Amino acid sequence: MTEDQLELSVVIPIYNEQENIERLYRDLKQVLERLGKSYEIVAVDDGSTDGSFEVLRELHRGDDLLKVVRLRRNFGQAAAFAAGFDSAVGEIIVSMDADLQFDPADISKLLDKISEGYDIVSGWRADRQETFMTRRLPSMAANWLISRITGVALHDYGCSLKAYRSEVIRNVRLYGELHRFIPALASSIGVHLAEVPVSHYPRRHGKSKYDLSRTLTVILDLLTVKFLLSYATRPMQVFGLLGMLSLAVGTVIAAYLSFIRLFLGSPIANRPLLLLAILLIFVGVQLVTMGLLGELTTRTYYEAQGKKIYVIREMLE
Ligand code: UDP
Ligand code: MG
Repeated sequence: MTEDQLELSVVIPIYNEQENIERLYRDLKQVLERLGKSYEIVAVDDGSTDGSFEVLRELHRGDDLLKVVRLRRNFGQAAAFAAGFDSAVGEIIVSMDADLQFDPADISKLLDKISEGYDIVSGWRADRQETFMTRRLPSMAANWLISRITGVALHDYGCSLKAYRSEVIRNVRLYGELHRFIPALASSIGVHLAEVPVSHYPRRHGKSKYDLSRTLTVILDLLTVKFLLSYATRPMQVFGLLGMLSLAVGTVIAAYLSFIRLFLGSPIANRPLLLLAILLIFVGVQLVTMGLLGELTTRTYYEAQGKKIYVIREMLE
């Protein structure tokens, strides 16, 4: 542990939560003081247009342990998390919402699990206080699908109350709205994962920033995540295989057509099969080329960032 490293950072994205901040701050502060660990709170103002930043500035005046990061505009929750994670120096990083839907006291439950040796401990809103049709049902479907496809089973991907060892966070890059997929993305470096039921309350002030359309974006994101997890280091094996298959079938059909044209003299120009053969050969060549391009991109991706294709947990020397 370096000198300026703390034991705990609590990262909170904030977008127009004016009425919630003070209460959250007081409750959180009480919980953190009781834990007896060195800590900081990292509040990220994601371009709020209400008085959220002014409230934060006022609180910051009286508290060195409250760091405030103000983004220039609203970049979205994932970007806000990323900004918070980047300036957090804690060994353990806890993320939570600013809307008072979580109980800060649950943080100690997450930390207990972390100290048992887990790398990520996810909250699970077992008794979620939101409408069924527009919130809980789509979320159940999404959790099931994400768990099946990524192979990382969690009851509640959408719960932002989570705790991470900082090295896990350092190894995950967030884009778009991928923050909910951190446990799945992190599984690629090998993590021990646990879940803890947490309390959940209805939102009392301010509005939710999301609606039903989120379900659709989650499904698209899932495609990205699946690809990153399974094929990012071997695109040729995916595209190449598909391409070769397509090419092989196309070639067989073309050979057959050539044979009957050349040796049996029957016309082939009016046969749909000819089109199919051409299509398959074309697509096949394209896919193989895509695989090769993918291989190049992968190299750029890893080497430009000095990334390794492995991550070490620890070394005994
Ligand atoms: N949030 C943010 N930037 C955004 C949208 C949301 O920082 O563009 C914050 C928001 O202030 C809250 C958290 O992310 O602290 C979760 O948002 P919300 O409560 O609206 O989501 P829900 O709980 O309804 O899924
Ligand atoms: Mg909320």
